[in-house]
Amino acid sequence: MDKIKAKKRYGQNFLKDESILLRIIESMPYNKNKLVEIGPGLGDLTEKLVKYKDVRAYEVDRDLISILRTKFAIQLDNGKLELLHTDVLEAWDNQGSLYDGKYDMIANLPYYIATNIILRALEDDNCEHIIVMIQKEVALKFAANEKEKPFSALSVITKLLSNEARILFDVPPTSFEPAPKVMSSILYIRKDASKSIEPGFKKFLKACFVQPRKKLSKNIASVVNKDEVLKMFEELDINENVRPHEISACLYSQMYKKVVNNGRNK
Ligand code: SAM
Repeated sequence: MDKIKAKKRYGQNFLKDESILLRIIESMPYNKNKLVEIGPGLGDLTEKLVKYKDVRAYEVDRDLISILRTKFAIQLDNGKLELLHTDVLEAWDNQGSLYDGKYDMIANLPYYIATNIILRALEDDNCEHIIVMIQKEVALKFAANEKEKPFSALSVITKLLSNEARILFDVPPTSFEPAPKVMSSILYIRKDASKSIEPGFKKFLKACFVQPRKKLSKNIASVVNKDEVLKMFEELDINENVRPHEISACLYSQMYKKVVNNGRNK
Protein backbone atom coordinates (compact mmCIF):
# COMPACT_ATOMS: atom_id res chain seq x y z
CA MET A 1 0.00 0.00 0.00
CA ASP A 2 0.99 3.63 -0.40
CA LYS A 3 2.94 5.16 2.47
CA ILE A 4 -0.14 6.23 4.42
CA LYS A 5 -1.56 4.18 7.31
CA ALA A 6 -5.34 3.63 7.09
CA LYS A 7 -7.26 5.50 9.80
CA LYS A 8 -9.97 3.47 11.51
CA ARG A 9 -11.81 6.54 12.76
CA TYR A 10 -12.46 7.59 9.16
CA GLY A 11 -13.57 4.12 8.07
CA GLN A 12 -10.63 3.77 5.69
CA ASN A 13 -10.60 0.48 3.77
CA PHE A 14 -9.02 1.14 0.42
CA LEU A 15 -10.35 -0.75 -2.58
CA LYS A 16 -7.43 -2.38 -4.32
CA ASP A 17 -9.16 -4.90 -6.61
CA GLU A 18 -8.91 -3.78 -10.23
CA SER A 19 -11.74 -6.06 -11.40
CA ILE A 20 -14.14 -4.58 -8.80
CA LEU A 21 -13.13 -1.03 -9.74
CA LEU A 22 -13.94 -1.82 -13.36
CA ARG A 23 -17.30 -3.36 -12.47
CA ILE A 24 -18.22 -0.19 -10.57
CA ILE A 25 -17.33 1.89 -13.62
CA GLU A 26 -19.47 -0.39 -15.82
CA SER A 27 -22.43 0.25 -13.48
CA MET A 28 -22.35 4.01 -14.04
CA PRO A 29 -25.57 5.41 -15.52
CA TYR A 30 -25.28 6.82 -19.03
CA ASN A 31 -26.15 10.51 -18.73
CA LYS A 32 -24.63 14.00 -18.49
CA ASN A 33 -24.78 14.26 -14.69
CA LYS A 34 -21.81 15.34 -12.59
CA LEU A 35 -20.26 12.57 -10.49
CA VAL A 36 -19.93 13.13 -6.77
CA GLU A 37 -17.52 10.85 -4.94
CA ILE A 38 -17.43 10.75 -1.16
CA GLY A 39 -14.13 9.74 0.37
CA PRO A 40 -11.77 9.42 -2.63
CA GLY A 41 -9.13 8.02 -0.26
CA LEU A 42 -5.97 7.24 -2.22
CA GLY A 43 -7.80 7.96 -5.47
CA ASP A 44 -8.02 4.50 -7.06
CA LEU A 45 -11.70 4.83 -7.95
CA THR A 46 -11.35 8.58 -8.66
CA GLU A 47 -8.66 7.84 -11.23
CA LYS A 48 -11.13 5.73 -13.22
CA LEU A 49 -14.09 8.10 -12.74
CA VAL A 50 -12.32 11.20 -14.09
CA LYS A 51 -11.62 9.37 -17.35
CA TYR A 52 -15.37 9.36 -18.05
CA LYS A 53 -16.87 12.40 -16.37
CA ASP A 54 -16.21 15.50 -14.29
CA VAL A 55 -15.98 14.63 -10.62
CA ARG A 56 -16.51 16.55 -7.40
CA ALA A 57 -14.95 14.68 -4.46
CA TYR A 58 -15.39 15.27 -0.72
CA GLU A 59 -12.60 14.03 1.56
CA VAL A 60 -12.29 14.70 5.31
CA ASP A 61 -8.72 13.45 5.90
CA ARG A 62 -6.07 16.17 5.52
CA ASP A 63 -3.27 13.64 4.87
CA LEU A 64 -5.20 12.12 1.97
CA ILE A 65 -6.04 15.55 0.57
CA SER A 66 -2.36 16.34 0.12
CA ILE A 67 -1.70 12.98 -1.58
CA LEU A 68 -4.69 13.52 -3.87
CA ARG A 69 -3.61 17.08 -4.76
CA THR A 70 -0.29 15.74 -6.01
CA LYS A 71 -1.71 12.68 -7.76
CA PHE A 72 -4.44 14.64 -9.59
CA ALA A 73 -2.56 17.92 -10.19
CA ILE A 74 -3.46 17.86 -13.91
CA GLN A 75 -7.14 17.00 -13.44
CA LEU A 76 -7.49 19.62 -10.70
CA ASP A 77 -5.92 22.15 -12.99
CA ASN A 78 -8.11 21.40 -16.01
CA GLY A 79 -11.33 21.17 -13.98
CA LYS A 80 -11.96 17.44 -14.48
CA LEU A 81 -11.70 17.07 -10.70
CA GLU A 82 -12.84 19.33 -7.88
CA LEU A 83 -11.54 18.27 -4.47
CA LEU A 84 -13.24 19.55 -1.34
CA HIS A 85 -11.57 19.10 2.03
CA THR A 86 -14.55 18.75 4.36
CA ASP A 87 -16.80 16.37 6.25
CA VAL A 88 -19.50 15.50 3.74
CA LEU A 89 -22.31 15.67 6.33
CA GLU A 90 -21.22 19.21 7.23
CA ALA A 91 -21.17 20.08 3.53
CA TRP A 92 -24.80 18.96 3.27
CA ASP A 93 -25.71 21.02 6.33
CA ASN A 94 -23.99 24.11 4.94
CA GLN A 95 -24.81 23.84 1.23
CA GLY A 96 -28.14 21.99 1.23
CA SER A 97 -26.94 19.84 -1.68
CA LEU A 98 -23.58 18.29 -2.61
CA TYR A 99 -23.77 19.89 -6.08
CA ASP A 100 -25.89 22.66 -7.55
CA GLY A 101 -26.96 20.62 -10.60
CA LYS A 102 -28.00 17.03 -11.29
CA TYR A 103 -25.49 14.50 -10.00
CA ASP A 104 -24.91 10.79 -9.44
CA MET A 105 -23.15 9.62 -6.30
CA ILE A 106 -20.51 6.93 -6.76
CA ALA A 107 -18.45 5.93 -3.75
CA ASN A 108 -16.86 3.33 -1.56
CA LEU A 109 -18.43 4.79 1.55
CA PRO A 110 -16.92 5.04 5.03
CA TYR A 111 -19.11 2.41 6.75
CA TYR A 112 -19.49 4.27 10.05
CA ILE A 113 -21.69 6.94 8.41
CA ALA A 114 -22.84 5.09 5.29
CA THR A 115 -26.51 4.88 6.34
CA ASN A 116 -26.63 8.61 7.09
CA ILE A 117 -24.98 9.48 3.79
CA ILE A 118 -27.46 7.37 1.77
CA LEU A 119 -30.44 8.86 3.63
CA ARG A 120 -29.14 12.37 2.95
CA ALA A 121 -28.58 11.53 -0.75
CA LEU A 122 -32.11 10.09 -0.99
CA GLU A 123 -33.49 13.43 0.19
CA ASP A 124 -31.11 15.58 -1.88
CA ASP A 125 -33.24 16.61 -4.90
CA ASN A 126 -30.17 17.06 -7.12
CA CYS A 127 -28.99 13.47 -6.67
CA GLU A 128 -30.42 11.10 -9.32
CA HIS A 129 -28.48 7.85 -8.84
CA ILE A 130 -26.69 6.33 -5.86
CA ILE A 131 -24.08 3.65 -6.54
CA VAL A 132 -22.23 2.87 -3.36
CA MET A 133 -20.20 0.18 -1.71
CA ILE A 134 -21.42 -0.51 1.82
CA GLN A 135 -21.60 -3.33 4.32
CA LYS A 136 -23.73 -6.12 2.77
CA GLU A 137 -26.07 -6.34 5.76
CA VAL A 138 -26.93 -2.64 5.41
CA ALA A 139 -27.27 -2.86 1.60
CA LEU A 140 -29.84 -5.64 2.06
CA LYS A 141 -31.89 -3.36 4.31
CA PHE A 142 -31.99 -0.58 1.72
CA ALA A 143 -32.84 -2.94 -1.16
CA ALA A 144 -35.32 -5.31 0.54
CA ASN A 145 -38.90 -5.86 -0.62
CA GLU A 146 -41.84 -6.26 1.73
CA LYS A 147 -42.13 -9.70 3.35
CA GLU A 148 -38.37 -10.25 3.05
CA LYS A 149 -36.61 -10.48 6.40
CA PRO A 150 -34.35 -7.40 6.04
CA PHE A 151 -37.36 -5.19 5.08
CA SER A 152 -36.95 -2.25 7.45
CA ALA A 153 -37.55 1.49 7.88
CA LEU A 154 -34.65 2.01 5.43
CA SER A 155 -36.39 -0.15 2.79
CA VAL A 156 -39.65 1.79 3.21
CA ILE A 157 -37.92 5.17 2.79
CA THR A 158 -35.98 3.90 -0.25
CA LYS A 159 -39.13 2.50 -1.90
CA LEU A 160 -40.99 5.77 -1.35
CA LEU A 161 -38.21 7.88 -2.91
CA SER A 162 -36.95 5.71 -5.77
CA ASN A 163 -37.95 3.69 -8.80
CA GLU A 164 -35.37 0.96 -8.34
CA ALA A 165 -33.09 -0.25 -5.56
CA ARG A 166 -31.01 -3.40 -5.80
CA ILE A 167 -27.71 -4.99 -4.96
CA LEU A 168 -25.50 -5.19 -8.04
CA PHE A 169 -22.85 -7.55 -6.64
CA ASP A 170 -20.97 -8.53 -3.50
CA VAL A 171 -17.35 -7.68 -2.72
CA PRO A 172 -15.25 -9.85 -0.40
CA PRO A 173 -12.99 -8.43 2.37
CA THR A 174 -9.92 -9.53 0.38
CA SER A 175 -10.57 -6.79 -2.20
CA PHE A 176 -9.60 -4.11 0.36
CA GLU A 177 -6.54 -2.92 2.25
CA PRO A 178 -6.87 -3.27 5.18
CA ALA A 179 -9.55 -5.99 4.85
CA PRO A 180 -12.81 -5.15 6.67
CA LYS A 181 -14.37 -7.81 8.91
CA VAL A 182 -17.59 -7.92 6.89
CA MET A 183 -18.79 -8.71 3.39
CA SER A 184 -19.56 -5.64 1.25
CA SER A 185 -22.04 -5.02 -1.57
CA ILE A 186 -22.58 -2.48 -4.28
CA LEU A 187 -26.01 -0.89 -3.81
CA TYR A 188 -27.71 0.77 -6.79
CA ILE A 189 -30.61 3.21 -6.32
CA ARG A 190 -32.40 5.04 -9.14
CA LYS A 191 -34.31 7.88 -7.52
CA ASP A 192 -37.67 9.30 -8.55
CA ALA A 193 -37.61 13.10 -8.41
CA SER A 194 -41.41 13.28 -8.27
CA LYS A 195 -41.53 11.45 -4.94
CA SER A 196 -41.00 12.85 -1.46
CA ILE A 197 -41.69 11.96 2.16
CA GLU A 198 -43.35 14.16 4.71
CA PRO A 199 -41.54 15.70 7.65
CA GLY A 200 -42.17 13.52 10.69
CA PHE A 201 -42.60 10.34 8.61
CA LYS A 202 -39.17 8.97 9.58
CA LYS A 203 -39.97 9.33 13.28
CA PHE A 204 -43.25 7.47 12.75
CA LEU A 205 -41.41 4.70 10.86
CA LYS A 206 -38.88 4.38 13.65
CA ALA A 207 -41.71 3.65 16.07
CA CYS A 208 -43.26 1.13 13.62
CA PHE A 209 -40.01 -0.87 13.43
CA VAL A 210 -38.81 -0.38 17.00
CA GLN A 211 -39.21 -4.09 17.75
CA PRO A 212 -39.03 -5.59 14.25
CA ARG A 213 -40.20 -9.09 15.17
CA LYS A 214 -43.12 -7.92 17.35
CA LYS A 215 -46.61 -7.13 16.04
CA LEU A 216 -46.81 -3.82 14.16
CA SER A 217 -49.94 -2.86 16.14
CA LYS A 218 -47.93 -3.08 19.37
CA ASN A 219 -45.10 -0.94 18.02
CA ILE A 220 -47.45 1.74 16.68
CA ALA A 221 -49.33 1.88 19.98
CA SER A 222 -46.40 3.88 21.38
CA VAL A 223 -47.31 6.81 19.10
CA VAL A 224 -51.04 6.29 18.33
CA ASN A 225 -53.88 5.37 20.71
CA LYS A 226 -54.54 1.64 20.70
CA ASP A 227 -58.19 1.64 19.55
CA GLU A 228 -57.28 4.19 16.88
CA VAL A 229 -54.59 1.79 15.65
CA LEU A 230 -57.13 -1.00 15.22
CA LYS A 231 -59.61 1.34 13.50
CA MET A 232 -56.87 2.49 11.11
CA PHE A 233 -55.86 -1.12 10.38
CA GLU A 234 -59.47 -1.96 9.56
CA GLU A 235 -59.80 1.03 7.23
CA LEU A 236 -56.63 0.04 5.38
CA ASP A 237 -57.41 -3.69 5.45
CA ILE A 238 -54.29 -4.52 7.47
CA ASN A 239 -54.36 -7.70 9.54
CA GLU A 240 -53.95 -6.86 13.23
CA ASN A 241 -51.36 -9.64 13.69
CA VAL A 242 -49.07 -8.37 10.95
CA ARG A 243 -45.32 -7.90 11.69
CA PRO A 244 -43.59 -4.65 10.58
CA HIS A 245 -41.78 -6.24 7.60
CA GLU A 246 -44.95 -7.77 6.16
CA ILE A 247 -46.75 -4.70 4.74
CA SER A 248 -45.85 -2.46 1.82
CA ALA A 249 -44.11 0.92 1.87
CA CYS A 250 -47.25 2.39 0.33
CA LEU A 251 -49.34 1.23 3.31
CA TYR A 252 -46.86 2.90 5.69
CA SER A 253 -47.31 6.13 3.77
CA GLN A 254 -51.12 5.80 3.87
CA MET A 255 -51.04 5.05 7.59
CA TYR A 256 -48.95 8.14 8.27
CA LYS A 257 -51.34 10.35 6.28
CA LYS A 258 -54.22 9.07 8.41
CA VAL A 259 -52.29 9.65 11.60
CA VAL A 260 -51.52 13.24 10.60
CA ASN A 261 -54.94 14.07 9.11
CA ASN A 262 -56.98 12.57 11.93
CA GLY A 263 -54.71 13.87 14.68
CA ARG A 264 -54.26 10.33 15.90
CA ASN A 265 -50.92 11.00 17.52
CA LYS A 266 -50.75 10.22 21.19
N1 SAM B 1 -12.57 5.69 -2.22
C1 SAM B 1 -11.44 5.07 -1.57
C2 SAM B 1 -11.31 3.65 -2.03
O1 SAM B 1 -12.27 3.14 -2.61
O2 SAM B 1 -10.27 3.05 -1.82
C3 SAM B 1 -11.54 5.12 -0.04
C4 SAM B 1 -12.77 4.51 0.58
S1 SAM B 1 -12.73 4.44 2.33
C5 SAM B 1 -13.85 3.11 2.62
C6 SAM B 1 -13.70 5.81 2.89
C7 SAM B 1 -13.13 7.20 2.62
O3 SAM B 1 -14.05 8.18 3.15
C8 SAM B 1 -11.80 7.50 3.25
O4 SAM B 1 -10.99 8.14 2.32
C9 SAM B 1 -12.13 8.45 4.42
O5 SAM B 1 -11.08 9.30 4.80
C10 SAM B 1 -13.32 9.19 3.84
N2 SAM B 1 -14.22 9.76 4.85
C11 SAM B 1 -14.52 9.27 6.08
N3 SAM B 1 -15.39 10.04 6.71
C12 SAM B 1 -15.70 11.07 5.86
C13 SAM B 1 -16.53 12.22 5.96
N4 SAM B 1 -17.26 12.45 7.05
N5 SAM B 1 -16.58 13.07 4.90
C14 SAM B 1 -15.81 12.84 3.79
N6 SAM B 1 -15.01 11.77 3.64
C15 SAM B 1 -14.94 10.89 4.66
